[in-house]
Amino acid sequence: MPFNRPLILLLLMLLLTAAWWRLQPEAASVQRTQLLMGTTVSIEAAGADRAVLERAIAAAFAEMARIEALMSPHRPDSDVSRLTAAAHTATVAPETVEVIALGLDIARRSGGAFDLTLGRLKSLWGIETETPRVPAPAELASALQGTGPGALSVSGDLVTKRSPQLAIDLGAIAKGYAVDRAIATLRAHGVPSAAVNAGGDIGLLGSKLGRPWRIGVQHPRQASSVLVTLEAADRAVVTSGDYERCFERDGRRYHHLFDPQTGYPAGRCQSVTVLASHAVLADALATALFVLGPERGLALLRDYPGVDALIVAADGRLHSTPGLAAVKAGPS
Ligand code: AMP
Ligand code: MG
Repeated sequence: MPFNRPLILLLLMLLLTAAWWRLQPEAASVQRTQLLMGTTVSIEAAGADRAVLERAIAAAFAEMARIEALMSPHRPDSDVSRLTAAAHTATVAPETVEVIALGLDIARRSGGAFDLTLGRLKSLWGIETETPRVPAPAELASALQGTGPGALSVSGDLVTKRSPQLAIDLGAIAKGYAVDRAIATLRAHGVPSAAVNAGGDIGLLGSKLGRPWRIGVQHPRQASSVLVTLEAADRAVVTSGDYERCFERDGRRYHHLFDPQTGYPAGRCQSVTVLASHAVLADALATALFVLGPERGLALLRDYPGVDALIVAADGRLHSTPGLAAVKAGPS
């Protein structure tokens, strides 16, 4: 039987293409979303094997749910709720110890601008409820009583409060920690490339098809418009903005990032984006810098080599660390 050369060549090419495709480290990609920690979490992962990606993403979501169960103030048996209910001390999980210890360190370094003890203040404003309101000055003073960097301490797995009425709030840092745990879970499953986005807290594993990920930073005053696009790989990019959770009363806007000095929403910035090796650090620093404002915020970052920030000040002007020029890709 005569050889059908064109057909054999075609088959050979198909076989080679299939082999090449299988050898590509990022031949498959999967994207999934879940509601967790009061926000939409999306995980996008790429790799050679779709089944591995599916398993890895499911495990990453489960890990984030485990962290939420430890650190949510809305779960009565979470570490945070038990700590708030405790008169003085509570024993907590190692993960909670890690997050509180880092939060307390940033609280001290930021001169109290970052504060894990604002739980009562947050409830008073009710910003994340159906019925937010502007509290009276006396109420604010009462909610701030006993708060501050010295109000909480950690020793081993024991956390101690200075006063019984102190309510703990890890809202500025726990999401970042959960993103780090998701990235670690994806890595442990052998995923080479992934992005985890928990409502603006973004963790990046590896690169995207050999190129840096491109992250659009939202314009704080023009909804759905991108202010600047950043390029990053194997890094976390976290934004805190006054447009995220807010309400208006008598022509004024009140948002969810409080200045512990006054009890009112902090007024020095419109948004702060921080890039760091870990999302937990980027998350806490974004909130701290938002409260501190551009000058004191950039001064705080001298304690954190390798961390970059882009700050949109209250007047709309941009401030950034010198290192950011290298990662900024301009408007998309
Ligand atoms: P983020 O979106 O990470 O900036 O966190 C915002 C959340 O952090 C708020 O909803 C509060 O739960 C909490 N928070 C507000 N102000 C502060 C502050 N000064 N220090 C620490 N946490 C804060
Ligand atoms: Mg934060």
